[in-house]
Amino acid sequence: MAGSQDEFAQRVVALIDAGNTALGRQDRQAAAASFARASELLFRRAAAAESYQDKLRLARRARQLLDSVQALKGESVDGQRSGFVADRIASGGSAPPPVDEDARQLAADLAPAAPGVRFADIAGLDEVKETLRLRMIYPARNPAALRRYGLTMGGGMLLYGPPGTGKTMVARAVAGELDTPFFAIKPSDILSQYYGQSEARLAELFTTVRGCSHGAVVFVDEIDAIGASRSRGDASEPSRRLLNQLLNELDGVHGRPAGLLFLAATNEPWLLDPALLRPPRFSEKCYIQLPDPTARRKLLELRLSGCPLADNLDWDGWSQRTEGFSGADLVELCERAKQLPFREAILEGRERPVGHADLEQALSRVRPSVSADSLKRYEEFGT
Ligand code: ADP
Repeated sequence: MAGSQDEFAQRVVALIDAGNTALGRQDRQAAAASFARASELLFRRAAAAESYQDKLRLARRARQLLDSVQALKGESVDGQRSGFVADRIASGGSAPPPVDEDARQLAADLAPAAPGVRFADIAGLDEVKETLRLRMIYPARNPAALRRYGLTMGGGMLLYGPPGTGKTMVARAVAGELDTPFFAIKPSDILSQYYGQSEARLAELFTTVRGCSHGAVVFVDEIDAIGASRSRGDASEPSRRLLNQLLNELDGVHGRPAGLLFLAATNEPWLLDPALLRPPRFSEKCYIQLPDPTARRKLLELRLSGCPLADNLDWDGWSQRTEGFSGADLVELCERAKQLPFREAILEGRERPVGHADLEQALSRVRPSVSADSLKRYEEFGT
């Protein structure tokens, strides 16, 4: 796997190796410092991991390394987490054994991280970006100025609007702008039919979040799946319990450690329990609208640039003709338009640019996914 390793994974492996070397010469302090840094890097990668399995795998290894650090410093380690090298270090012996080879292997196998999304990659939504700069980005970058004005950081933000309008992308871009880990929590990763398992998973995710001691953006997607109102007749006892736990976890991490930013997204904001929308939880609401004509034009340009393109494309015309399209609909339109010349290039060996006729054909197949009725509902919710 060495070929696919990125600089980040190489650093983790090098730090674990350095820690083991230090252990070999009985230098516990140097070993602890190396493992602590490796653990922090693994926590960051856990936060950025896409799948729940990878997230937990990485977070567990990161915690094992932290346990080793504690043991090396002579601090006690949670006895529950047995089987770790920390136990072996803590239990004495003249030369502590090298740190868990699995952690090193895991780091070595890490696939390169995807490049971060930035605000510049998002078409339109200028007011939303400005709100996020003011509420999250400037405070995180300028904590001293924030204190001088007697302001406190924190308080989460709810992004609501139709599906495919870029809510996830916006949350990712906050992390990209701050160059901080992005931690996505999906209810589908947490919800389980087994008694107590959903609560245990939520608790574990928040433990990982708290491990991001240098800050992170925590994004709860489809928050309505957990946060639907407790007063609804069909709300079951387990779902009430899980929502209560989410509220407690959110309050527990508020402002601690510094730099943890919370965002949540929903396509159905009217379902949410009012308790979720009170400070310091998701008290600020941001409507993520369908793209306006300028944003549609920018998105079409962004999505079609980088491939052979006819030079007489009427961008404004296409922006007008795609009224009502979400960002995701526009992405699909562009993908379909590109597939036609791509197919010809492969089957006929003839490369030609993407042109008007390709977009025309794609447009006959892609329709706006958001209905006028549902748009009205979002607008009413915001007033
Ligand atoms: P949501 O979370 O609102 O359902 P996503 O953020 O998952 O939507 O967006 C789906 C895809 O649509 C994104 O990966 C991106 O490619 C595209 N997209 C949506 N809105 C925008 C936008 N404003 N600018 C650029 N791309 C967008």
